[in-house]
Amino acid sequence: MTLKERDKKHIWHPLTQHKLHPEAIAIVKAKDCVLYDEDGNEYIDAIASWYTCMYGHCNDYITDKVSAQMKQLDQVVFSGFTHEPAIKLSEELIKILPDNQEKVFFSDNGSTSVEIGIKMALQYHSNKDNKRNVLIAFEDGFHGDTFGAMSVSGLSVYNGPFEEFFITVERIPTPNGSNNLDVLNKLKSIIEKNKVAGFVYEPLVQGAAAMKMYDAHGLNDILSLCKENNIITIADEVMTGFGKTGTYFASHSIETKPDVICLSKALTGGLLPMAITTCTQEIYDAFYSDDIGKGLFHAHTYSANPIACTAALASVELLQSEVIQSNIKTIIESHKDFGAKIVNHPKVKSIRQTGVIFALDLDIEMERYGNLRDKLLNFFMGNGVFLRPLGQTIYIQAPYTISKKQLDKIYKTIEQALEIV
Ligand SMILES: *Cc1c(COP(=O)(O)O)cnc(C)c1O
Repeated sequence: MTLKERDKKHIWHPLTQHKLHPEAIAIVKAKDCVLYDEDGNEYIDAIASWYTCMYGHCNDYITDKVSAQMKQLDQVVFSGFTHEPAIKLSEELIKILPDNQEKVFFSDNGSTSVEIGIKMALQYHSNKDNKRNVLIAFEDGFHGDTFGAMSVSGLSVYNGPFEEFFITVERIPTPNGSNNLDVLNKLKSIIEKNKVAGFVYEPLVQGAAAMKMYDAHGLNDILSLCKENNIITIADEVMTGFGKTGTYFASHSIETKPDVICLSKALTGGLLPMAITTCTQEIYDAFYSDDIGKGLFHAHTYSANPIACTAALASVELLQSEVIQSNIKTIIESHKDFGAKIVNHPKVKSIRQTGVIFALDLDIEMERYGNLRDKLLNFFMGNGVFLRPLGQTIYIQAPYTISKKQLDKIYKTIEQALEIV
């Protein structure tokens, strides 16, 4: 029996309606930018497996460090114990994060890093005897699939059965340059009418909203209004972090810095699941007390797993290397050229780019998981390129190690796909 057949017996896949999509492709190997399936097909991983493997799959530098760490220290409880990989990683991260970040809290997936950010915001006010019970978020943001994260996510088409259990969230539209004043006014009126604890947002690019890009000045105005009102700002950089937008973090391109930053996905270069929530000294100080109940009583068994920390440390080193920084510049220029070439194509409605994130909207209405989307996905896979269209959007977010030849193949396949839609 093939893997594909054996899979069906016991496995329940994420984000999958099994009746409509009964088959999964069985991957047996991945190296650098290529995935290999059990039938001998190869696919260029043009979305870096949900933007995780940014230094290429099974990167030798990362796997060597991880192999050595595995023989030294595998796992230890992180309450009451500490270790070099976590300490070194926090030192290196703090150096490249926005200046106001001081403390590092470990967990194991992106949704949870947001959950922790939300808890920090709610408990910050509660610890100061000023309970606040409302959060603010963008209309079409995505922050994960646990309850707090689902509550702040606006893209909740499939969250119907859970909505009545959500945290109270007020929503504002993303600023686009021409609606900035309206957005600010809406925010003002929400702040007047509610006790707002925090504002959760994806800086510059909203990943699951199909790489929607919005106005940085508008965001800056929102953040400063939040600061004036002592609302904790939580930047969800799970997708945008680690070089995607051209700077180490998207928050570097916005003047007003967040109080809390959520990280995961590319944090370990795709090798192991891990997440981090960082915060300012001021937030930390609100939990520092003789009263044990004012501490942040949140833990995960695998918090700061030494092997995951080692993968993250190696990834952070790679990110800062000359090779990767120069590759990032090359990819940015390459996408620009492709954009200029394709922007006037009759089937293309618009293009957009921030850093290495490139997206184009088709001039065709398409359901998020409809037939046309399946047709496109199958076309890409049939041509050896893993691209996962989101509604009418085709986006590229390839590993930083992608070659010129592989990029050209991705572009060519997209151009060919325009002929079949
Ligand atoms: C993927 C993602 C999450 C959720 O991370 P998981 O590790 O899948 O739980 C949260 N926020 C953003 C912006 C993401 O892209």
